[in-house]
Amino acid sequence: MDTRRRGLLKTFVEDVDGFMRLMEHMGTVILGLSALHLIQAKMEALELNDLDVYVTHEFDKEVVKHMKGKGYEMKWESERKTEYDGSAMKKIYKLMKNEREVDIIVTNWAGAIVPIVQYHSTAVMNYMTAHSLVCMYPEWTKNCQSLVNPQMYLNNGTNICTVMALMKYVRRGFCMSADPFKFSVHNCNMSGYCPNAVRNTIDGDTMRWNFEEVKMVGRMTVTCKDMAVVIWRLGGGECEEDSDEKNPGYIGVGA
Ligand SMILES: [Zn+2]
Repeated sequence: MDTRRRGLLKTFVEDVDGFMRLMEHMGTVILGLSALHLIQAKMEALELNDLDVYVTHEFDKEVVKHMKGKGYEMKWESERKTEYDGSAMKKIYKLMKNEREVDIIVTNWAGAIVPIVQYHSTAVMNYMTAHSLVCMYPEWTKNCQSLVNPQMYLNNGTNICTVMALMKYVRRGFCMSADPFKFSVHNCNMSGYCPNAVRNTIDGDTMRWNFEEVKMVGRMTVTCKDMAVVIWRLGGGECEEDSDEKNPGYIGVGA
Protein backbone atom coordinates (compact mmCIF):
# COMPACT_ATOMS: atom_id res chain seq x y z
CA MET A 1 0.00 0.00 0.00
CA ASP A 2 2.78 2.42 0.88
CA THR A 3 4.52 1.75 -2.44
CA ARG A 4 1.31 2.34 -4.36
CA ARG A 5 0.71 5.57 -2.53
CA ARG A 6 4.20 6.80 -3.40
CA GLY A 7 3.64 5.75 -7.00
CA LEU A 8 0.41 7.72 -7.18
CA LEU A 9 1.94 10.85 -5.68
CA LYS A 10 5.01 10.51 -7.89
CA THR A 11 2.77 11.04 -10.93
CA PHE A 12 2.06 14.55 -9.67
CA VAL A 13 5.04 15.63 -7.63
CA GLU A 14 8.65 14.57 -8.02
CA ASP A 15 9.38 15.39 -4.43
CA VAL A 16 7.06 12.89 -2.75
CA ASP A 17 8.65 13.32 0.67
CA GLY A 18 8.28 17.07 0.45
CA PHE A 19 4.61 16.71 -0.42
CA MET A 20 4.00 14.26 2.42
CA ARG A 21 5.72 16.66 4.83
CA LEU A 22 3.33 19.36 3.59
CA MET A 23 0.34 17.09 4.27
CA GLU A 24 1.69 16.33 7.71
CA HIS A 25 2.51 19.94 8.48
CA MET A 26 -0.86 21.34 7.45
CA GLY A 27 -2.51 18.56 9.42
CA THR A 28 -5.61 18.82 7.32
CA VAL A 29 -4.31 18.44 3.78
CA ILE A 30 -5.64 15.30 2.22
CA LEU A 31 -6.39 13.72 -1.10
CA GLY A 32 -9.92 12.81 -2.00
CA LEU A 33 -11.19 11.02 -5.10
CA SER A 34 -7.76 9.76 -6.00
CA ALA A 35 -7.82 7.65 -2.86
CA LEU A 36 -10.19 5.30 -4.67
CA HIS A 37 -7.31 4.33 -6.91
CA LEU A 38 -5.43 3.05 -3.92
CA ILE A 39 -8.40 1.10 -2.59
CA GLN A 40 -9.34 -0.61 -5.81
CA ALA A 41 -6.49 -2.60 -7.22
CA LYS A 42 -8.23 -3.13 -10.55
CA MET A 43 -8.26 0.59 -11.13
CA GLU A 44 -4.52 0.84 -10.94
CA ALA A 45 -4.37 0.32 -14.66
CA LEU A 46 -6.39 3.45 -15.26
CA GLU A 47 -4.22 6.45 -15.66
CA LEU A 48 -4.90 9.12 -13.15
CA ASN A 49 -4.56 12.62 -14.54
CA ASP A 50 -6.01 14.69 -11.78
CA LEU A 51 -5.49 14.80 -8.09
CA ASP A 52 -7.78 16.43 -5.56
CA VAL A 53 -6.27 18.02 -2.51
CA TYR A 54 -8.58 19.13 0.29
CA VAL A 55 -7.53 21.84 2.64
CA THR A 56 -9.06 24.13 5.24
CA HIS A 57 -9.02 27.82 4.35
CA GLU A 58 -6.24 28.82 6.71
CA PHE A 59 -3.78 26.72 4.74
CA ASP A 60 -4.84 27.13 1.11
CA LYS A 61 -2.32 29.87 0.21
CA GLU A 62 0.54 27.80 1.52
CA VAL A 63 -0.48 24.69 -0.42
CA VAL A 64 -0.88 26.69 -3.64
CA LYS A 65 2.58 28.20 -3.05
CA HIS A 66 4.04 24.73 -2.59
CA MET A 67 2.55 23.46 -5.86
CA LYS A 68 3.69 26.56 -7.77
CA GLY A 69 7.17 25.95 -6.42
CA LYS A 70 6.96 22.50 -8.03
CA GLY A 71 6.25 23.96 -11.46
CA TYR A 72 2.46 24.02 -11.42
CA GLU A 73 0.65 26.97 -12.97
CA MET A 74 -2.69 28.39 -11.91
CA LYS A 75 -5.32 27.70 -14.56
CA TRP A 76 -8.23 29.26 -12.74
CA GLU A 77 -9.63 29.81 -9.30
CA SER A 78 -13.25 30.12 -8.36
CA GLU A 79 -14.86 31.44 -5.26
CA ARG A 80 -18.18 29.95 -4.31
CA LYS A 81 -20.93 31.63 -2.39
CA THR A 82 -21.35 28.79 0.04
CA GLU A 83 -23.88 30.61 2.20
CA TYR A 84 -26.42 30.16 -0.58
CA ASP A 85 -25.93 26.61 -1.78
CA GLY A 86 -24.94 25.01 1.52
CA SER A 87 -21.84 23.53 -0.03
CA ALA A 88 -18.82 22.92 2.16
CA MET A 89 -16.62 23.89 -0.79
CA LYS A 90 -15.57 27.50 -0.46
CA LYS A 91 -13.06 27.83 -3.22
CA ILE A 92 -11.40 25.70 -5.89
CA TYR A 93 -7.97 26.28 -7.42
CA LYS A 94 -7.09 24.45 -10.62
CA LEU A 95 -3.38 24.01 -11.18
CA MET A 96 -1.73 22.45 -14.23
CA LYS A 97 1.66 21.09 -15.11
CA ASN A 98 2.00 19.40 -18.48
CA GLU A 99 -0.98 17.01 -18.63
CA ARG A 100 -1.33 16.81 -14.88
CA GLU A 101 -4.01 18.67 -13.04
CA VAL A 102 -4.22 19.30 -9.33
CA ASP A 103 -7.41 20.71 -7.84
CA ILE A 104 -7.15 22.31 -4.45
CA ILE A 105 -10.54 22.26 -2.76
CA VAL A 106 -10.88 24.71 0.10
CA THR A 107 -13.44 24.41 2.87
CA ASN A 108 -14.22 26.86 5.64
CA TRP A 109 -15.38 24.03 7.86
CA ALA A 110 -13.07 22.84 10.63
CA GLY A 111 -12.26 19.61 8.82
CA ALA A 112 -10.78 19.39 5.34
CA ILE A 113 -12.75 16.24 4.50
CA VAL A 114 -16.20 17.77 5.02
CA PRO A 115 -16.80 18.34 1.26
CA ILE A 116 -16.33 14.60 0.68
CA VAL A 117 -19.53 13.62 2.50
CA GLN A 118 -21.42 16.01 0.21
CA TYR A 119 -20.19 14.21 -2.90
CA HIS A 120 -22.46 12.51 -5.40
CA SER A 121 -21.97 8.92 -4.29
CA THR A 122 -20.33 6.68 -1.74
CA ALA A 123 -17.64 5.41 -4.15
CA VAL A 124 -15.83 8.73 -3.77
CA MET A 125 -16.20 9.02 -0.01
CA ASN A 126 -12.59 8.06 0.64
CA TYR A 127 -9.63 10.10 1.73
CA MET A 128 -5.97 9.94 2.49
CA THR A 129 -4.03 11.76 5.16
CA ALA A 130 -0.28 11.84 5.70
CA HIS A 131 -0.74 8.76 7.86
CA SER A 132 -3.67 6.75 6.65
CA LEU A 133 -6.11 5.88 3.93
CA VAL A 134 -9.77 5.91 4.96
CA CYS A 135 -12.80 4.42 3.23
CA MET A 136 -16.23 5.39 4.56
CA TYR A 137 -18.24 2.63 2.82
CA PRO A 138 -15.66 -0.15 2.41
CA GLU A 139 -18.07 -3.08 1.80
CA TRP A 140 -19.84 -1.35 -1.07
CA THR A 141 -16.67 0.12 -2.53
CA LYS A 142 -14.95 -3.26 -2.47
CA ASN A 143 -17.92 -4.77 -4.34
CA CYS A 144 -18.01 -1.91 -6.87
CA GLN A 145 -21.33 -0.72 -5.48
CA SER A 146 -22.01 2.94 -4.99
CA LEU A 147 -25.01 4.60 -3.40
CA VAL A 148 -26.09 7.90 -4.92
CA ASN A 149 -26.04 10.53 -2.19
CA PRO A 150 -29.74 11.17 -1.35
CA GLN A 151 -28.93 14.90 -1.10
CA MET A 152 -28.40 14.85 -4.86
CA TYR A 153 -32.06 14.37 -5.62
CA LEU A 154 -33.55 15.85 -2.43
CA ASN A 155 -32.02 19.26 -3.11
CA ASN A 156 -32.48 19.16 -6.86
CA GLY A 157 -28.74 18.71 -7.08
CA THR A 158 -29.09 16.41 -10.06
CA ASN A 159 -27.74 18.39 -12.96
CA ILE A 160 -25.86 17.34 -16.06
CA CYS A 161 -22.47 17.58 -14.32
CA THR A 162 -23.60 15.18 -11.62
CA VAL A 163 -24.97 12.73 -14.16
CA MET A 164 -21.70 12.87 -16.09
CA ALA A 165 -19.73 12.26 -12.90
CA LEU A 166 -21.93 9.27 -12.05
CA MET A 167 -21.53 7.85 -15.56
CA LYS A 168 -17.78 7.93 -15.16
CA TYR A 169 -18.09 5.45 -12.30
CA VAL A 170 -20.54 3.26 -14.19
CA ARG A 171 -17.98 3.00 -16.98
CA ARG A 172 -15.41 1.98 -14.39
CA GLY A 173 -17.61 -0.97 -13.47
CA PHE A 174 -19.54 0.50 -10.58
CA CYS A 175 -23.15 -0.39 -9.94
CA MET A 176 -24.83 2.87 -8.99
CA SER A 177 -28.15 2.92 -7.19
CA ALA A 178 -30.29 5.21 -5.07
CA ASP A 179 -31.65 2.18 -3.21
CA PRO A 180 -29.28 0.69 -0.59
CA PHE A 181 -31.27 -2.58 -0.54
CA LYS A 182 -30.19 -3.22 -4.09
CA PHE A 183 -26.71 -3.91 -2.73
CA SER A 184 -27.47 -5.75 0.48
CA VAL A 185 -30.13 -6.10 3.12
CA HIS A 186 -29.48 -4.07 6.26
CA ASN A 187 -31.08 -3.55 9.64
CA CYS A 188 -31.91 0.17 9.77
CA ASN A 189 -31.32 0.43 13.52
CA MET A 190 -27.98 -1.32 13.50
CA SER A 191 -26.21 -0.86 10.22
CA GLY A 192 -23.87 1.92 9.20
CA TYR A 193 -24.95 1.16 5.63
CA CYS A 194 -28.41 2.57 6.30
CA PRO A 195 -28.42 6.05 4.71
CA ASN A 196 -30.26 7.32 7.79
CA ALA A 197 -27.58 6.12 10.19
CA VAL A 198 -25.42 8.77 11.83
CA ARG A 199 -21.84 7.86 11.05
CA ASN A 200 -18.44 9.22 11.95
CA THR A 201 -14.93 8.84 10.58
CA ILE A 202 -13.74 6.69 13.48
CA ASP A 203 -16.70 4.32 13.77
CA GLY A 204 -16.55 0.59 13.18
CA ASP A 205 -17.90 0.74 9.65
CA THR A 206 -15.16 3.07 8.46
CA MET A 207 -12.08 1.28 7.23
CA ARG A 208 -8.68 2.72 7.90
CA TRP A 209 -5.29 1.60 6.72
CA ASN A 210 -2.29 3.13 8.47
CA PHE A 211 0.78 3.67 6.33
CA GLU A 212 3.48 3.54 8.90
CA GLU A 213 3.78 2.01 12.29
CA VAL A 214 1.83 3.79 14.93
CA LYS A 215 4.19 5.33 17.46
CA MET A 216 3.98 3.98 20.94
CA VAL A 217 4.44 6.02 24.10
CA GLY A 218 4.73 3.59 26.95
CA ARG A 219 1.79 1.28 26.36
CA MET A 220 -0.41 3.97 24.88
CA THR A 221 -1.05 4.12 21.18
CA VAL A 222 -0.72 7.61 19.80
CA THR A 223 -3.13 8.48 17.02
CA CYS A 224 -3.61 12.14 17.83
CA LYS A 225 -2.05 13.21 14.55
CA ASP A 226 -5.23 12.42 12.76
CA MET A 227 -7.62 15.18 11.88
CA ALA A 228 -10.92 16.21 13.38
CA VAL A 229 -13.65 13.55 13.46
CA VAL A 230 -16.38 14.22 10.93
CA ILE A 231 -19.94 13.11 11.70
CA TRP A 232 -22.48 12.68 8.93
CA ARG A 233 -25.78 11.22 7.86
CA LEU A 234 -26.59 10.80 4.20
CA GLY A 235 -30.29 11.08 4.94
CA GLY A 236 -33.01 10.64 2.35
CA GLY A 237 -36.24 8.70 2.51
CA GLU A 238 -36.99 6.14 5.20
CA CYS A 239 -36.00 2.64 4.15
CA GLU A 240 -39.49 1.19 4.78
CA GLU A 241 -41.50 1.33 1.62
CA ASP A 242 -44.69 2.80 3.04
CA SER A 243 -43.01 5.81 4.60
CA ASP A 244 -42.93 9.21 2.95
CA GLU A 245 -40.76 10.75 5.59
CA LYS A 246 -37.59 12.43 4.39
CA ASN A 247 -34.59 12.83 6.65
CA PRO A 248 -32.24 15.72 6.09
CA GLY A 249 -28.56 14.99 5.67
CA TYR A 250 -26.34 15.99 8.53
CA ILE A 251 -22.72 17.02 8.84
CA GLY A 252 -20.79 17.94 11.95
CA VAL A 253 -17.19 18.17 13.05
CA GLY A 254 -16.11 16.78 16.42
CA ALA A 255 -12.98 17.63 18.33
ZN1 LIG B 1 -32.14 1.56 6.39
